[in-house]
Amino acid sequence: MNRTSVRGGEFLVQDIDCRDVFTPEDFTDEHRQIAETTAQFVANEILPINGEIESKNFDLLLQKLKKCAELGLMMIDVPEEYGGLELDKATSMLVMERMAFARNFGLSYMVQTGIGMLPLVYYGSPRQKERYLGKLFRAEMIGAYCLTEPGAGSDALGAKTTATLCEDGSHYILSGTKQFSSNAGFADLFTIFAKVDKVHFTAFLVERGFAGLEFGPEEKKMGMHGSSTRQVILDKVRVPVENVLGEVGRGHKIAFNVLNVGRFKLGAFCVGQGKYALSEGARYANERRQFDVPISSFGAIREKLADVTAMTFASESVVYRLAGLIDGRLATLEKGGDSSYHEYLKGIEEYAAECALAKVFCSEAAAGSIDEMLQVHGGYGYIAEYPIEQLYRDERVQRIYEGTNEINRLLIPNLLIRKGIGGKALGPACAAVTAGDFAAHKGLIRAMKETCLALTGHAVKRFGAGLAAEQEILLALADAAIQIFALESTVLRAEKACAAATEKKRELYRAVVTLCSFTARRQVINAAERCAAFLEDETSLTAMAGVTSYRAKGLLAAKRLLAEATSQAEKYIF
Ligand SMILES: Cc1cc2nc3c(=O)[nH]c(=O)nc-3n(C[C@H](O)[C@H](O)[C@H](O)COP(=O)(O)OP(=O)(O)OC[C@H]3O[C@@H](n4cnc5c(N)ncnc54)[C@H](O)[C@@H]3O)c2cc1C
Repeated sequence: MNRTSVRGGEFLVQDIDCRDVFTPEDFTDEHRQIAETTAQFVANEILPINGEIESKNFDLLLQKLKKCAELGLMMIDVPEEYGGLELDKATSMLVMERMAFARNFGLSYMVQTGIGMLPLVYYGSPRQKERYLGKLFRAEMIGAYCLTEPGAGSDALGAKTTATLCEDGSHYILSGTKQFSSNAGFADLFTIFAKVDKVHFTAFLVERGFAGLEFGPEEKKMGMHGSSTRQVILDKVRVPVENVLGEVGRGHKIAFNVLNVGRFKLGAFCVGQGKYALSEGARYANERRQFDVPISSFGAIREKLADVTAMTFASESVVYRLAGLIDGRLATLEKGGDSSYHEYLKGIEEYAAECALAKVFCSEAAAGSIDEMLQVHGGYGYIAEYPIEQLYRDERVQRIYEGTNEINRLLIPNLLIRKGIGGKALGPACAAVTAGDFAAHKGLIRAMKETCLALTGHAVKRFGAGLAAEQEILLALADAAIQIFALESTVLRAEKACAAATEKKRELYRAVVTLCSFTARRQVINAAERCAAFLEDETSLTAMAGVTSYRAKGLLAAKRLLAEATSQAEKYIF
């Protein structure tokens, strides 16, 4: 696993050694086996009934959730002391990725094992866990998470749902309306956020059978038709005091820590969608003939296959690097006892900026990939018979939930600055950066970091605490940081993998890096120029010479190589 642990946000102020990143090439046999179990489950149990799930046959969906639980796929994040498997985050992400092939079932799975179950795993008392956790990971109970309200979306802490302690102190009385609760149509246990005495933001475990809990009709959505999304209406619901989750007034910690993991899981789901879209597009391109040849012989189509392969590689590199960072940190903690969860959560919180950037990068990469693969299908991509049509509709919401991409972008520089990144500079380049096959790309990444740090430092100096209100500047800084993390993850993964790869495979790794460096460079230049223009100071762009002077050598050959390999394999090739 990792040689040394890189702390949250430090990727911007350090040169990172490729031996310090976890990559998909580091998966163990156990990782691969559980991924294969998931893929088989999806292929045999879910894909044949996708149509029924799309038409909201929730009884069938529940049967399949139970079957999935029987395979142990719902207990991956559950502590051993409560009967779970307590496997690493790499496993959890790998299963999530494979579940993306299950489309809407995958969303219900993601809700159940993420926002549905994790509040209880992380914050539940031993009694609460004993009462509910086993039922959740056996899918005898389904979980839902109710944070959003009609008047409180991004501003989640502006919730109006109230909780008032009744006179004998035995129950809280909850009243209010929660909006867009996934799984609500069939969930049994709801984590509901409400304000005690209209002030203290608090989480409660609410059972479906509690009197006064009602539901709005199913929302008529653009996509994700096979998932349930409803309002949850609380009309003086009596919730026993023992169902307060965590502490009164500490609900914001639960909400945000669970969202960190939720974002990360969504990133993995998006990687799976990119792979799914690519296999659909590559296969269709070989089957479809125009002008007497398969459309996969056209450069226009081949370029899309190459670009999507590179985007998916970058997303995958981001997700598993982050899994390695978090796993590395969590491995240093002592297991067992409820105080260990406090440390555990601090370990995850450490990488909150990376979780946010993984969500943004991977959801946008999936959106771009699916859009391009739909285009490969021409008019047929618009027709429901082809899976790409559903993927296109389903994908859109991913830039909205788990915090909109704007909110996540705003978080990134704020979190990094809070860690003191604003005033820092890179030290002298170490040997790992200046040597080897990937030295030019690593030089580019260094120059990107210097540019981003100079702009951040400048913005902090100019605005101080007022920077939080300068959203256009923060978004530009976020864009630069996201691209830097993604490109670095890509390059370091390729460098590490090349050490053990055949020459043929090495060429593919080098090709993907060439494409990703070309794209990231353009994005960072755009972000940095935007930021400098907003700041009305071009001097902070001096460091950008190393970015602008970089030239992508062999770009066309690299694209053609990746396109040929993808077209032949008819799927993601790494
Ligand atoms: C299908 C679906 C399933 C969902 N599942 C769940 C669930 O299970 N549980 C749950 O609690 N919620 C769920 N949500 C809700 C989801 O998390 C919210 O929709 C999301 O957080 C955005 O809130 P909003 O829709 O109120 O948009 P708003 O917050 O009103 O945002 C509207 C626009 O304004 C921007 N904006 C808002 N505030 C700011 C700001 N401070 N600075 C800059 N820009 C800003 C946003 O980025 C967005 O572009 C789900 C939503 C959908 C559509």
